[in-house]
Amino acid sequence: LIQLRNVSKSFGALNVLRDLSIEIYEGQSTVIIGPSGTGKSVLLKHIVGLLQPDTGEVWFGGQRVDTMAPEDLVEIRKRIGFLFQMSALFDSLTVGENVAFPLVEHTTLTRPDREERVDRVLRMVGLSGLQAKMPAQLSGGQKKRVSLARSIVLGPEAVMYDEPTTGLDPIRSDLINELIVGLSTRLGITSVIVTHDMVSACKIADRMVLIYDGKIVHDGTPESFWKTDDELVRRFVHGQA
Ligand code: ATP
Ligand code: MG
Repeated sequence: LIQLRNVSKSFGALNVLRDLSIEIYEGQSTVIIGPSGTGKSVLLKHIVGLLQPDTGEVWFGGQRVDTMAPEDLVEIRKRIGFLFQMSALFDSLTVGENVAFPLVEHTTLTRPDREERVDRVLRMVGLSGLQAKMPAQLSGGQKKRVSLARSIVLGPEAVMYDEPTTGLDPIRSDLINELIVGLSTRLGITSVIVTHDMVSACKIADRMVLIYDGKIVHDGTPESFWKTDDELVRRFVHGQA
């Protein structure tokens, strides 16, 4: 569904992605792990066209994204939900208004239809009845779930999750993990999840990819990460566990 082909990206003298190629398969949950600053968020941003590679190509659903005209990119972004690392809710809007925002921007749905859709996704993330609350009144875990509701409200084919459980306790992390797994299994949403959290990663991954220094150093099932003899992978996995 998604392909990065020989993507390199630098910011000034900093080489972040180095000739990185990866294909993300439809319906799978692919977890991307790697140390801080290794280019994980930068990779996700390439997929939705928020960043362009210096060299290489980015494809989504058979369409080339990195050279796409802005009006076509808008269409692609409707098809890919993005849960940002910082939850990025609008503080001056209610929960319901935050979740409805993409519907107002990108659809011609009437207000009652929007409200029905918002109710439905809030129910899916376990936050029914919180429409009128302000983000400041919510816990960290609830904010993440509101952001998640907002990123799926347009009914995307794929969702990019940037550190969905960071800063959450294990119980709240598990709630988010279960939601991610539920969305991919029940709705067939293709998921790409960036995380530091090996425990979460192993729970949700069909496939795990370790990025180090802008390159893929291991790509396989979660089990393969525990079994490998590769010293770098072992150090990363055991250092985190
Ligand atoms: P973390 O796990 O801490 O979130 P990450 O792997 O997501 O790390 P990235 O956010 O992808 O790391 O950033 C990789 C490097 O690129 C960092 O050194 C960062 O400072 C740099 N970087 C990212 N975006 C930009 C930008 N827009 N301009 C300049 N440098 C950037
Ligand atoms: Mg990041």
